[in-house]
Amino acid sequence: MVELLIFLFLGLSFGSFANVLIYRIPKEISIIIPSSFCPNCKNKIKFYDNIPVLSYLFLKGRCRYCGEKISLRYPLVEILSAIIFVVPYLYFGISLKTLEAISIMYFLMIMAFIDFDTHYVYDILLFPSLYFGFLIAFFSKHLLSSIIFSFLGFLFGILIRWGGNKIFKKEALGEGDPYVFALMGIYIRGFDFLFVFFLSFLIGSIFGIIILLFKKEKYLPLLPFLFSGVFIYNIIPFRWSFFIY
Ligand SMILES: [Zn+2]
Repeated sequence: MVELLIFLFLGLSFGSFANVLIYRIPKEISIIIPSSFCPNCKNKIKFYDNIPVLSYLFLKGRCRYCGEKISLRYPLVEILSAIIFVVPYLYFGISLKTLEAISIMYFLMIMAFIDFDTHYVYDILLFPSLYFGFLIAFFSKHLLSSIIFSFLGFLFGILIRWGGNKIFKKEALGEGDPYVFALMGIYIRGFDFLFVFFLSFLIGSIFGIIILLFKKEKYLPLLPFLFSGVFIYNIIPFRWSFFIY
């Protein structure tokens, strides 16, 4: 029970940090300094107004100083992050498997929100998460299969990108997307890899059609769908594991 609460606390805190990264990385603001501030009135947010989820409820979703609405996304990211931390712990306890599941979901969540906002995948997130993935793979003793599937993922991404350009004469994938496929390949291997892709593309096509019909958006960010696929794969009450190393 104490462990569970620790994971919950970690999830909420990392969620709060994820909000900082999602907001600051595209704006190139330092992650550490300044401390949290209201994007509208720039007033510093006191620590007691910065408690994940609870502060949002206490303040009724408004800034204490200027009354500007706080985006519902902040508590949402914190709750998502709490789920990302707690559920793998419930499945695998304190283990490398838990760390793997948490890190792929956490990294992809941040990248997905940033992709949604800016249509960019930032190296400052991508490369540390790739290195971290290989490091865990090494300690989990499946480094070789991670390298293979990471490479296959990258190749798959390059092929889709190339095919999209050749056949449809338009950008099917962004420049950074094949690297994200590579990242997913480190963590999710074998048939599971195909399964997660299928799931992501299924979600993507359903939402894609709806969005294209109603919003006339030309570009659809891919990462939110990849994140959804990876999230569902890791969270569902039983995990598909067709191919275990
Ligand atoms: Zn304010």
